[in-house]
Amino acid sequence: MSRALDLHGIDAAYGPVQALFALNLPIAEGKVTAVLGPNGAGKTTTLRVASGLLPPKQGTVSLRGANVTGKAPRQIARSGLCLIPEGRGTFPSLTVRENLLLQTSLARKKMSQVEEVAYGRFPVLGKRKNQIAGTLSGGEQHMLALSRALTTDPKVILIDEISMGLAPIIVERLFDSVAEIAREGRTIVLVEQLAELVLEIADFAAVISKGSVVKLGQPGDVRDALEEIYLGADVRAEAGARITDDKRMWKTPAGTLGHHGDCPVVVRRHDVRPVTADDDLADCGICAATGTGEHS
Ligand code: ATP
Repeated sequence: MSRALDLHGIDAAYGPVQALFALNLPIAEGKVTAVLGPNGAGKTTTLRVASGLLPPKQGTVSLRGANVTGKAPRQIARSGLCLIPEGRGTFPSLTVRENLLLQTSLARKKMSQVEEVAYGRFPVLGKRKNQIAGTLSGGEQHMLALSRALTTDPKVILIDEISMGLAPIIVERLFDSVAEIAREGRTIVLVEQLAELVLEIADFAAVISKGSVVKLGQPGDVRDALEEIYLGADVRAEAGARITDDKRMWKTPAGTLGHHGDCPVVVRRHDVRPVTADDDLADCGICAATGTGEHS
């Protein structure tokens, strides 16, 4: 596999708070790699290290074969990497055109060329060019962010949570654009919470948990790891696991619980407290979320 970006043995910290622990993340060239994992796992930190915003304490960052560890963000950007941060990285009080104008220096392009890149890919932005960016729809703001990124002709684009605050239908359309950009030969890294949606367009996926990559592979390969992290483990095979008297739950000697009956999954949730005599189906976070008392 030819690597567009390679993070190797990365330790990274915010002051005394270590966020990444010996993290390894090879990114295949010209492909879409989804980076998944629970809140606080270290996904954003990984992108920050890759783009030079947070120098690692240990380890190396290679961009298209060159060691860029410790280089300044602008230098890394000039080497072909672009980060679209969570919150889109646009200037909300400026117009669409002004947002693009600010790219001309970094992109070393004339305004007409920058506009051609943006409006050529997203014609709606041409129609809105004099509109204040902050008043665009969420999807259009992402189109503007992607356009700004594309003006620099990046080889690697890192995108942090494109789906944030958007309806799934809009996210799907944006993902289609992202997949199209990858087909043109660019490498895309998508940090996402919407695992199922992003796995539809991803060629590879990495699962980060507690500051390390715990699984890396094709989408089908990482689904089990995701289930383990997001939902918990199947407790049925655990020693001493038994169905409760009312046959609605499983208990294990460790005091964890899972569901039984109509529920399609029997899990040990990491956020479920030990079972007590008062435990009831309604105590499960998953069932409570569906409001039905049953897993959906
Ligand atoms: P989320 O999906 O919630 O954004 P994440 O997987 O992107 O989570 P990070 O934002 O990378 O996780 O955070 C990793 C760890 O680093 C967390 O423990 C977080 O609290 C900590 N952290 C992140 N930013 C800072 C900061 N500026 N100062 C101190 N600690 C931080």
